[in-house]
Order: sequence, then structure tokens, then C-alpha cells
Amino acid sequence: MGEFDLIERFFKRAARRAVLGIGDDCALMQAPAGSHMAISTDMLVQGRHFFADVEPRTLGHKALAVNLSDLAACGAEPMGFTLALALPHIEERWLAAFAEGLFTLADSHGCELIGGDTTRGPLNICITVFGSVPAPAGQSQALLRSGAHPGDDIYVSGQLGDARLALEAMQGKLSLPPALLQATRQRLEEPSPRIALGMALRGLASAAMDLSDGLVGDLGHLLKASQVGATLNTEAVLERLCARTHSDWAGAGVSHTQALHCVLSGGDDYELLFTAPPTARSAILAAAQRCATPVSCIGQIESQPGLRLLDAAGAPMPNHFASFEHFA
Ligand code: ADP
Ligand code: MG
Repeated sequence: MGEFDLIERFFKRAARRAVLGIGDDCALMQAPAGSHMAISTDMLVQGRHFFADVEPRTLGHKALAVNLSDLAACGAEPMGFTLALALPHIEERWLAAFAEGLFTLADSHGCELIGGDTTRGPLNICITVFGSVPAPAGQSQALLRSGAHPGDDIYVSGQLGDARLALEAMQGKLSLPPALLQATRQRLEEPSPRIALGMALRGLASAAMDLSDGLVGDLGHLLKASQVGATLNTEAVLERLCARTHSDWAGAGVSHTQALHCVLSGGDDYELLFTAPPTARSAILAAAQRCATPVSCIGQIESQPGLRLLDAAGAPMPNHFASFEHFA
């Protein structure tokens, strides 16, 4: 099987939303009238973002999920995506499973594969997603990192820490009971992009981003973009956001400090971090309920720039929760 048979067999489907899909030199797409396009790219590299023996179905899911999460963060509605794929060799079972994971998630969000590139090389997956955001009279309703104001509430969707817990277990740094490993691994390998919530937050949230690199680091980015600050009570955040209970930790030999790290600096959660004025509180909770995605308020925006952390006793604590950075 050559490159073109591979595309034909595993990736080409009839265009539905696109004006022109796979097969020509360019794909053609029409953005809805009165909207802006939202565009984002994420690359997944073997050994860096996933293990060599990862299941191809979950890899297909995750490669698209991390991209859709960026659309969710901006409040965009998914339209389509391109897939640039480097493969060491053609393995049909692998490709079929990869495509299944990819298209199952794509279909559930009405997001269509419109093109890409395929080459031989070390396994590498690069996806670019295209979405739309209403822009009446040219005024974009996209959610940005830069709109937080002093007094706004700070929210996080869902729960944090599972992806990191699973990663540590898979790296042999701790050992989890099988049921817990399976549940946390699912959060690591098959995150659910919060598309519905992101769209529901348009016009409500003052700023938003998705959590890919860890809460403390990512919140730092949002505060900086908005030129504001915040104080987080780390214990309260742990109580509110940790996906696991004290007895889960105890059973797994996870210390309190390790749990704190999983929640505050563990990445790969793909939840939404957002801010909104207190007047929007009931509308936010209603939106969360409609989207079946719980949200928790973890603090308020302050005018003094920077992020301050408090320990269980309410005393200032040093920030040991830097997020992951390539080349750091
Ligand atoms: P070109 O040489 O003009 O870049 P290619 O021969 O690489 O085009 O690709 C042929 C067609 O197949 C194009 O429409 C391209 O978008 C599509 N394509 C290539 N690889 C993929 C892929 N992995 N997934 C989806 N579409 C792909
Ligand atoms: Mg090409």
C-alpha cells in the first residue's frame, strides 16, 4: 500500500460540511456568515506526548481532543481539521484503530477531516482545527485569555489531577490499584474537550483558556495576559478540584504533597479555566448544568498582578508548581 491508497482507505470520506474535502491541492470551507474562524494547531510526538505502545484508538482520540480543547477554550464551534501524519511504516491494523478513535470523536463534534499530509518518518501527528465564532458587526465573541477583571470569579470545569496520577503510575513512579489506574488512565488518554461549555460561556465569561500544562502555570498565563492577579488557597483548590478522595490516595500510597502536585501542576487535564463577573454566577451554573459539565469557583481576580499561593493555614507558600515547558 502506498501513500495515496493509505489516504483513500483510512482517511478519505465524502465531504459533508466542507465545500471541497480531501483529494485536491486545497480544501475549501465556508465560514458561517458573520463569524470569524478560530484556528489552532497541536503536534503529538512519540516519546514526548505519548508512549510508543499507546493504543492507536486512544491516540487518534487524543490527537484531535487536544486540538478541540483549544477551540473550546475560545468558545468556538468545530468545523473541520487537517491531519499531518509521519509514520515509520504502514501497519493496517494500527491505522484502522487510529482512524476509528479519530473519527469517533470528530463525528461527535461535527468536525470534518478536510485534508492533510502523509510522509514516512518517526511517528508524529500534527492536527490543525478550524472552528467558527460569531462576530456580529465584526465584533468577535471569542473568549480570550486577556479579558479578566479584578473582582471576577475564577472557575475550573470538571476535576484535575487524574492525568498526572496515571502518568506517574505508567512511568513506575507510583503504583495504583488496577481499577484506579484504569480510571485515571482513561482521563490521560481520552480527554473530553469541553466544546459545549466553551460555546455556552460566550457572552458570560470574561476570559478563558484550556488547562493543558497545569493549573498554576496556566492560570499564571491568563493573569499575565489580563494584567491582573489572584490568590489561591491551595488546600481549598485541592478539596474542590481533586478527582480522587483521601482514601483513594491512601490506598494508592499517594502523599498529600503528591496529590497537591497532581492537581496544581499536573498537566493534560484539558478542562477549561475561565473568569466571569459575580453578576454572571447563576448564568454560569445554569450553563454548566445544561452542558452536564460541573464547574467550581476557586477564587477571585485581584488588581495586584501575579499569583499568590496560600497553604492550609492561610500562610503564603512558595510556588513549587511550575508547569511543564519544553526546552526548559
Ligand atoms: P500535495 O502533494 O498537493 O500536498 P498530497 O499528495 O500530499 O497533496 O495529498 C493528496 C490529498 O490527500 C490532499 O487533498 C491532502 O489534503 C490529502 N491528504 C494527505 N494526507 C492526508 C491525511 N493524513 N489525512 C487527510 N488527508 C490527507
Ligand atoms: Mg502533500
